[in-house]
Amino acid sequence: MSSLFNHIFIPITILLIFSKRLSIHPKNIILLSFFGILPDADIFLFHRATLHNIFILIVPILIFIFMTDMREVSGIICFYLGSHLLLDIFDGGIFLLYPFYNGIFYSVIELIFEKGMKFNIGISNDFIDMSQIGEPMISSENFGVAILLLIVILISIIIKREDIKKKKKT
Ligand SMILES: [Zn+2]
Repeated sequence: MSSLFNHIFIPITILLIFSKRLSIHPKNIILLSFFGILPDADIFLFHRATLHNIFILIVPILIFIFMTDMREVSGIICFYLGSHLLLDIFDGGIFLLYPFYNGIFYSVIELIFEKGMKFNIGISNDFIDMSQIGEPMISSENFGVAILLLIVILISIIIKREDIKKKKKT
């Protein structure tokens, strides 16, 4: 189950591992980590909807694009918020397009000992019950973490390539 601990611990670890390659300061990674749990503040409103939709990323993305001196901070905030949404999609689902569309976007990819691979992605009217009969070898949330890791690896490769291009030009 996606706990508050996971929502901070997983993105912090991934960012710290890649902090050098992405040239981001570890201090900023730690200071901004509360953005990893911020979406769950909507538990007092409409849980997994009010702050669990793609539109919460608009402001940090706009800052990232237009305020170049704020890139590091806005980039880290985007990652924390985005990682929260992604992990919750793999853990029951979220109202990804709220308030414009009231469907729960979910993704269940699990490897279960007795039953093998379970693969189910879609839009539902209800949250997906993640409690299983049988112990998953690889849980849906594990797949979410793996995807998060792949995204960061990809970004760091792209950044490295751009750096090499820039160095060649100068
Ligand atoms: Zn959440």
